[in-house]
Amino acid sequence: MIEGAVKCLDHGFVKLLDVMGDDKAIVDAARISVSGENVKTVSEDTALIRYLMRHRHTTPFEMVEFKFMVKAPIFVIRQWFRHRTASVNEMSARYSELPEEYYVPEVNQIRLQAIGNNQGRDTAVMDDAADLQDDFDNESDSAFTEYQYRLKLCMSRELARINLPLSTYSQFIWKQNLHNLLHFLALRMDSHAQYEIRVFADALAGFVKAAVPITWAAFEDYRLNAMTLTAHDIKALKQIFNGQLLGSVDFPTKRELDEFLEKAKKLEFI
Ligand SMILES: Cc1cc2nc3c(=O)[nH]c(=O)nc-3n(C[C@H](O)[C@H](O)[C@H](O)COP(=O)(O)OP(=O)(O)OC[C@H]3O[C@@H](n4cnc5c(N)ncnc54)[C@H](O)[C@@H]3O)c2cc1C
Repeated sequence: MIEGAVKCLDHGFVKLLDVMGDDKAIVDAARISVSGENVKTVSEDTALIRYLMRHRHTTPFEMVEFKFMVKAPIFVIRQWFRHRTASVNEMSARYSELPEEYYVPEVNQIRLQAIGNNQGRDTAVMDDAADLQDDFDNESDSAFTEYQYRLKLCMSRELARINLPLSTYSQFIWKQNLHNLLHFLALRMDSHAQYEIRVFADALAGFVKAAVPITWAAFEDYRLNAMTLTAHDIKALKQIFNGQLLGSVDFPTKRELDEFLEKAKKLEFI
């Protein structure tokens, strides 16, 4: 394990390489945009950062940048790289031989398909999870045996690697400004994101929290632990407050109704 890195899954890690800026840089950037005006009302740094976060005045958060080194399975990286607003350099399996490192899920993660959530896994661990874990291991192991055999034949590395599994680990450098990084974290720390990328997002979050604690607290309060109410949600909540039956609110889809019920449960209204 590289010094200072946070271990993620079985062979992965996240390491902070560099940070440019801090909470003060955000405040300084915000204040320059109102110089010449009466800035006394937002004179306190914490209050200003919290105001910016609440009202989505986002550009001051772009003044802070983070650079990470990450080692993650390719299926995690595939989701990760959908976030287009970062600068990335990934190791090349055309230039160098890949070490035999692949992800094998822990037994307690080998679960059934979730019923309510098409994208997720259930809470129930599969009966034969230990055997299935061995299968994951054996399949990846034999793919690597073939890979190494092809390399021994002097096959080009770019071709020899094409049948390696999505569980194979790769490494990359990832540079992202704080605004876009928080957007990434809001999506990838969420319970709807796949468990494996959440592990990495949680590790990133630890570094962000330490570097910009005031911004992080505001992010938790106004984004991570906040919720959005749709027009239909508000109508339904008004009805609940007035003691009326919920059934009269016409949610456009059953899914939206279910999402509202989830929010209402969180608010302990139902
Ligand atoms: C739980 C979950 C499930 C997902 N499921 C799927 C799936 O099934 N299939 C799938 O393909 N993807 C899926 N995604 C990926 C998702 O659609 C986004 O591609 C990903 O989350 C990156 O988000 P983003 O575009 O906001 O981020 P970034 O690419 O970092 O962009 C940040 C913001 O910049 C702006 N922006 C960036 N590029 C453009 C552009 N070209 N045009 C306009 N605005 C731009 C947008 O405002 C965007 O929100 C899933 C994501 C999550 C979190």
